[in-house]
Amino acid sequence: MLQITNLSKTYPNGVKALQDVSLTISNGMFGLLGPNGAGKSTLMRTIATLQDADSGTIMFGDINVSKQKQELRKVLGYLPQEFGVYPRVSAEEMLHYIARLKGVANDKERKELVQALLEQVNLYNHRKKSLSGYSGGMKQRFGIAQALIGSPKLIIVDEPTAGLDPAERLRFNNLLSEIGENIVIILSTHIVEDVSELCRDMAIIAGGKVVQRGNPEDLVNALENRIWSKRVKKDEVAQYQANYKMVLAKLSAGSMKVFIDSETDPGNDFKRERATLEDVYFSNIF
Ligand code: ADP
Repeated sequence: MLQITNLSKTYPNGVKALQDVSLTISNGMFGLLGPNGAGKSTLMRTIATLQDADSGTIMFGDINVSKQKQELRKVLGYLPQEFGVYPRVSAEEMLHYIARLKGVANDKERKELVQALLEQVNLYNHRKKSLSGYSGGMKQRFGIAQALIGSPKLIIVDEPTAGLDPAERLRFNNLLSEIGENIVIILSTHIVEDVSELCRDMAIIAGGKVVQRGNPEDLVNALENRIWSKRVKKDEVAQYQANYKMVLAKLSAGSMKVFIDSETDPGNDFKRERATLEDVYFSNIF
């Protein structure tokens, strides 16, 4: 279990990236959802021992993360937001290299591990290809393979599907869902669908604060029967924003549709909508 308690971080330029963040995260896939600039990467890098918070603690089981960095690194698999490119090095060579760094010294054992990982992430047929020639989706799947070396107990994936096309995203999410329930996996993302597809537990972070927390299904159920929509003209959006508790306004089939939160029928030609995790997200970040 990962226990984050009263974590705060202010950058030298005065930006309060984390403000008193507390979260308890159990085994399974946890979604950390928030807009760009919310503080997700700051939190992920702090958990991954790559930077320190100003105050607060992170415990992973018995490990105090800021005080026992080496201990944490031994059980951590980390897929950063931007995975470095290694020109002219093949995926197979790179995995061998990383496995050796992580202490898999026995040649036969390492060979079997690398082969199993390449098969698991469906890159075996591309194992000789240089990483620089990989597509975005292949790079991210390679990122998972390297993160899995050393049987980690905590895996952090930071914005993994940003920039992937829909097919690559699906393949990557399927891969994530197969990693298993017996370790803590934190998926940090601004893509609501990733969380609704994969996570049983989640938090929404905005402006460095946890603004919502729970099981995605429960959070959606709490909004059921409260979401209403209406097609409007673009220049009417501001007026609806002023008069209703607006959740979001979005383009739909070429025209503007506003979604509002109302416990009772707002009349005025609004139609009832099924609540979605997108509604939960937008009603919390505005
Ligand atoms: P997210 O991953 O949710 O997009 P970040 O943790 O990257 O959020 O950033 C949170 C806030 O902290 C943003 O306002 C960002 O501009 C700022 N920030 C991030 N890293 C630094 C840094 N090294 N120096 C100053 N400000 C930073």
